[in-house]
Amino acid sequence: MEPQKDLQEFIFRSKLPDIYIPNHLPLHTYCFENLSQFKDRPCLINGADGVTYTYAQVELTARKVASGLDKLGIKQGEVIMLLLQNCPEFAFAFLGASYIGAVSTTANPFYTPAEVAKQAKASNTKLIITQSSYVDKVKDFAKENGVKVMCIDSSLDDFLHFSQLTQADENDIPAVKINPDDVVALPYSSGTTGLPKGVMLTHRGLVTSVAQQVDGENPNLYFHSGDVILCVLPLFHIYSLNSVFLCGLRVGASILIMQKFEIVKLLELVQQYKVTIAPFVPPIVLAIAKSPDVQWYDVSSIRTVMSGAAPMGRELEDAVRAKLPNAKLGQGYGMTEAGPVLAMCLAFAKEAFEIKSGACGTVVRNAQMKIVDPDTGASLPRNQAGEICIRGSQIMKGYLNDPEATERTIDKDGWLYTGDIGYIDDNDELFIVDRLKELIKYKGFQVAPAELEAMLVAHPNISDAAVVSMKDEAAGEVPVAFVVKSNGSKISEDDIKQYISRQVVFYKRINQVFFTDAIPKAPSGKILRKDLRARLAAGLAN
Ligand code: AMP
Repeated sequence: MEPQKDLQEFIFRSKLPDIYIPNHLPLHTYCFENLSQFKDRPCLINGADGVTYTYAQVELTARKVASGLDKLGIKQGEVIMLLLQNCPEFAFAFLGASYIGAVSTTANPFYTPAEVAKQAKASNTKLIITQSSYVDKVKDFAKENGVKVMCIDSSLDDFLHFSQLTQADENDIPAVKINPDDVVALPYSSGTTGLPKGVMLTHRGLVTSVAQQVDGENPNLYFHSGDVILCVLPLFHIYSLNSVFLCGLRVGASILIMQKFEIVKLLELVQQYKVTIAPFVPPIVLAIAKSPDVQWYDVSSIRTVMSGAAPMGRELEDAVRAKLPNAKLGQGYGMTEAGPVLAMCLAFAKEAFEIKSGACGTVVRNAQMKIVDPDTGASLPRNQAGEICIRGSQIMKGYLNDPEATERTIDKDGWLYTGDIGYIDDNDELFIVDRLKELIKYKGFQVAPAELEAMLVAHPNISDAAVVSMKDEAAGEVPVAFVVKSNGSKISEDDIKQYISRQVVFYKRINQVFFTDAIPKAPSGKILRKDLRARLAAGLAN
């Protein structure tokens, strides 16, 4: 007899019909598939100096870079690290690597030397492409490990220069056979638990994700070749790399690159280039909502303001709506491991839908979402909150060299468990209400408690420690530490903060230290973070 299925599955799909996705193509082929329609249109505009590259120039330069990487000895499947602020070279290097089947691991250029070294080592990086301001961070590691370093701006003794790639012969690219399931991008993320891990995103995965957003008759994200998309979010984060750069390329839009966020410069660029699409994170939305300068600029060209990477409350949505009355505002919901987009606001579709503020979109096309009761594992109906899970070809292949973490995140049926708690309402809109996982998000940047805890317990005057998030108006969340001193230790809060600051990028710095007698733990040894967060909320941290 057939075993009886006792659990009903509640599975949610997009309101928009599924589409054909050519996800057998390599990522660069897919992105440039419609090139002939817009080859003379501006593709990349460097906001810093106004230098513009047409689509034909970007495609040509990417092929030259592919050839140059090959001449340098980078082989199919090998990893290069892009340690860059936003710049056209990021795009050329990423696409060039894709042509030869190489993999780009993207890293924050503000990382400390130790953080860069950790990622470069874990990913077995062969070449680091960076800017002159950051070469000092990588030179010792590179020398000790035989890693090549290339600089995109100044010509420096001891380092390669990017022109070596852009001057190569574009017709001399090795004939590599790219399998759709080969990895093309390797961002790092801590996922639901533990240390940062390499997230293997494949050609198939990224093609699927971009198509889910912008392909078809009535795409979820209605981007077109007349659009000017502001690229202020860092390209080293998958949100910007995918939903800004790759989606922009696919539709033939102009991508306006800003190296870093600065409100007045941003407003100037919006006015000058008549920006139509503005992908943001909540802290940038907050800065616009609060800026007295907005009134002095013509920002009426903005049609779409997307926010993602961290929660955005209804009050903030309403405040920015008043500043940008012509723009449709809505949220997307992403997670690096999910490729990254799980849900997108349907107000951005060509035939826009009414949406509720506070929602973070509806599930993308060609994907399935379910909400799972964390205690029973059963899927839940509408309006009941549980862990958000997603399934589809867009999700990661797994974590690099970490099958156990992969198994904990993607089950045997292909469901990826996000560690986020949310519910889907009667209108198919997703609302995120809590986070089950350890992750802390400072202005959308990831802070992994396990990474800071490992540093804390390595200190001779600390016997145990736990790091949790605390709410913060400007950053959303900040990391705070509960610390048990070693016997007789006189270590102070300042000593601990400085000890950590020396080792990490600015947003991972510990905001407050609470000394305690013991860290609450489950019998398995797992830190009971909920208890610590409850102590913070009740003001009982000390
Ligand atoms: P990352 O992998 O750095 O993109 O971080 C992914 C995590 O950011 C998600 O699992 C969520 O916890 C959070 N996140 C992303 N988008 C949103 C959103 N729109 N609202 C709330 N949290 C979000």
